[in-house]
Amino acid sequence: MTATREPRAAPKVGLVSLGCPKALVDSERILTRLRAEGYEISPSYEGADLVLVNTCGFLDSAKAESLEAIGEAMERNGRVVVTGCMGGEPENITKAHPNVLAVTGPHQYEAVMAAVHEHLPPAHDPFTNLVPPQGVRLTPRHYAYVKISEGCNNRCAFCIIPGLRGDLVSRPARAVLTEAERLAEAGVKELMIISQDTSAYGVDLKYAESEWRGRPVKAKFFDLCDALGELGIWVRLHYVYPYPHVDQVIPLMAEGKILPYLDIPFQHASPRVLKAMRRPANQEKTLERIAAWRNTCPDLAIRSTFIVGFPGETDAEFEELLAWLEEARVDRAGFFMYEDVAGAASNDLDGQIPDAVKRERYARAAAVQERLQNARARRLIGARVEVLLDEVGPDAAVGRTKWDAPEIDAKVTVTGGTRLKPGDVVKARVLESQGIDLIAGLGAARR
Ligand code: SF4
Repeated sequence: MTATREPRAAPKVGLVSLGCPKALVDSERILTRLRAEGYEISPSYEGADLVLVNTCGFLDSAKAESLEAIGEAMERNGRVVVTGCMGGEPENITKAHPNVLAVTGPHQYEAVMAAVHEHLPPAHDPFTNLVPPQGVRLTPRHYAYVKISEGCNNRCAFCIIPGLRGDLVSRPARAVLTEAERLAEAGVKELMIISQDTSAYGVDLKYAESEWRGRPVKAKFFDLCDALGELGIWVRLHYVYPYPHVDQVIPLMAEGKILPYLDIPFQHASPRVLKAMRRPANQEKTLERIAAWRNTCPDLAIRSTFIVGFPGETDAEFEELLAWLEEARVDRAGFFMYEDVAGAASNDLDGQIPDAVKRERYARAAAVQERLQNARARRLIGARVEVLLDEVGPDAAVGRTKWDAPEIDAKVTVTGGTRLKPGDVVKARVLESQGIDLIAGLGAARR
């Protein structure tokens, strides 16, 4: 006796992804697993049988945003599973939203999938269990984030991530390189390498070798960057700390193997404040290091973030930061006003700075950086630059240079092109600057 089976509609899961690129990578992994098991992804609350909310719990303001997003998902759908950083404190979620179906913590793929299975069983149809080999990406097809490790061995005073995500756990070099290779084969033109502490990659694995392309590759920062440089696409490094061994990758940038771009969250310039923050590599002489890096790779772009108003930060220490900004001329920087985060060691420090002072320091630091960044953009007028296109419209395309990461850095509007498509890399002449952004023309003559 044979039985025919009506194909069952695939269950649909909606996903709200909050927080940083690292959380985005977690969301992508969850989506890949869901697609592999035959779930469909719903772009709307209403079309979903269940909504996953991947939360951020880094700052109190991010927690408030996460709770608001859970509330919206509850109101518009009602069947909600919560995961991500804020899942590390389930009581705060269930207090505000007692009817969520389940709460799982950060980096707990098995637990998220178990919660989804429990509340929305998979369809088990082999024809829906298809997933492209490169996985499911939330970012446009031409760029992707690759997470090389999870967790962190540092204990910065203002940060609760090690408590939420644990100590550093690196992926073997082979796993990272195979993922990166698949992405390149699928048409990705730019990889953003992310983690909590990219330069510490492999410490936990004792730099173990694994085989890739028929040869052993160490799970070590330099070796990984060198191997990624073989893929022939843009490779951008985020969340690097200024440890001495970082110097070794600068020649790879000068040779064009990886992008001349370093995202280093310096957070401050005053050695005393950095020590109070318990920052890694806080004793390194960063101005000298930056000068040496630029000597090796003159077009290196440095992006950073800084906290103003850390407990105990004196006027003189803040002035030290401003002077450092002028001298270091970091190419891109974001500033944050210090905020207590529940569970962070810095909450107990003396010398909390009044909000008005924090605001004033923030405005002054941001103004210095804006002036430096605008001047940098003006210096590029007349130069020919490579632009990776992110969006293409009828009259112009918008993209980025190798010195600019998506979402956070400057944009270039490119005019005069035809038949362009996102992911193309074009050469264009910079015609003018608008703040930190550039206008460039294809085939435009030097002015
Ligand atoms: S390096 Fe510091 S700020 Fe970054 S995740 Fe680790 S502890 Fe947190």
